[in-house]
Amino acid sequence: MDPHGGTGAPSVGPLEQALHAARALVLADLVAREVAEADVVSLVEESVTHRRWWVEQWPEGAGFLAGLVAQDVQDALLERYGRWPLCPVCGSGDPHALEVQPELGPDPHWVCHKAGVKVAAVGALGRATGGAADS
Ligand SMILES: [Zn+2]
Repeated sequence: MDPHGGTGAPSVGPLEQALHAARALVLADLVAREVAEADVVSLVEESVTHRRWWVEQWPEGAGFLAGLVAQDVQDALLERYGRWPLCPVCGSGDPHALEVQPELGPDPHWVCHKAGVKVAAVGALGRATGGAADS
């Protein structure tokens, strides 16, 4: 019994917190690129479910979840919608998608392999795509 509600926090462990964070970051990028429709959100949920299993097997990978979920969603979108997220850096040439780097590591970023530049951290795409004068 804990009448103050202070110590009886729900059992949300660090892995679940990492999953929530990864989900929020990828959703933020989807919203930034205006593809966060209901069925797209369900792709994120599918990835999070899969990665929950994955990170339970390998808790040390918790810091890699955002990059992994981003790649899962990118792959799923490629099959159903096409390339995502399109590179906002290269003004000409074939439209191409950004890639997550590192593929399996902490602090993932969206990278344009053509220009060889980091475009934004995963979760910060909205700040990178509107141009400096946006707002
Ligand atoms: Zn590019």
